[in-house]
Amino acid sequence: MSSAGLAVPPPKRSCDDDRCPFHGHAKVRGRLLTGKVVSSPGKSFVVIQMEYLHKIRKYNRFERRRSRLSAHLPPCLNAQEGDVVTVAETRPLSKTISFVVVESGRSRA
Ligand SMILES: [Zn+2]
Repeated sequence: MSSAGLAVPPPKRSCDDDRCPFHGHAKVRGRLLTGKVVSSPGKSFVVIQMEYLHKIRKYNRFERRRSRLSAHLPPCLNAQEGDVVTVAETRPLSKTISFVVVESGRSRA
């Protein structure tokens, strides 16, 4: 098992997923993002949502914006709706998935 070059603790469980950055061959590079799981429609991927503030200069106020992305979920990690997870950018795994979950469990409910 490798740390995948990430500054996050490796999962306690093991898996044999080829797309797992810790136990498989997925290489992570690029961005590391944190978001909340809003949907887990399949066994192997989740949809996460990130909220951020966008400034409107004319009114000197912020508006709340949100963006979503899909991320691959390796079997060694457990993420349910409401969990805050960290995802790392990897190569495109499918049409809409080019991120993989690397840390999970911190529930903010
Ligand atoms: Zn794994």
